[in-house]
Amino acid sequence: MAYITGLTKNKQEWTPQFIVSIDEEACIGCGRCFKVCSHDVLAFEELDEDDSAKMFMKVENAGNCIGCEACGKTCSKKCFTFAPLAA
Ligand code: SF4
Ligand code: SF4
Repeated sequence: MAYITGLTKNKQEWTPQFIVSIDEEACIGCGRCFKVCSHDVLAFEELDEDDSAKMFMKVENAGNCIGCEACGKTCSKKCFTFAPLAA
């Protein structure tokens, strides 16, 4: 299958890996991914559990993602799934 590709500044071809999902069970809500994403893709969400509330990250605007994978690289819990986009 052919995938959408881009070019680096020195014109090397690369294949962006776009965000697919975040594992909300594994997420600890640390916010590291939120800080590194400059494309307004991610948002905090509060999940009510029995007698406490848990913060986790969710994909809010998937269409803004440029496929840089910075969020996944900063996540110590390996919550992110990425995939290339079919051309
Ligand atoms: S891959 Fe890049 S643009 Fe997409 S959500 Fe992660 S940090 Fe943001
Ligand atoms: S970096 Fe990982 S654990 Fe931290 S908020 Fe983002 S998805 Fe959750």
